[in-house]
Amino acid sequence: MKPKHTQGPWIVGKRVAEPGKIDRILVGREGQPGMVEYTVASIHGYSENADDNARVIAAAPELLSYLKEAVEDCPCTVAERASGHLVRCRAPFWQEAIDKAEGRS
Ligand SMILES: [Zn+2]
Repeated sequence: MKPKHTQGPWIVGKRVAEPGKIDRILVGREGQPGMVEYTVASIHGYSENADDNARVIAAAPELLSYLKEAVEDCPCTVAERASGHLVRCRAPFWQEAIDKAEGRS
């Protein structure tokens, strides 16, 4: 199934309000190299913490894609998956994160 979110990869960009002053951090699809073309998140103000948050947001499409692969590749049998996976399998937790990202929880 094709994801409903804006296709990645996403990048982090900074909006400069005036020379030397970043007033907003943008996350979105890249247009020109290094420039956000389509904004999916806008963080007002600038701080190191906001920059870190923006990087987490920008990584989301790839993280989601790899997490889906990890769930598909879990070592459990069909029967074990149907009964909630093996105790050591982390796939149910990964699936919870996927459900959260896709609005099912
Ligand atoms: Zn499993």
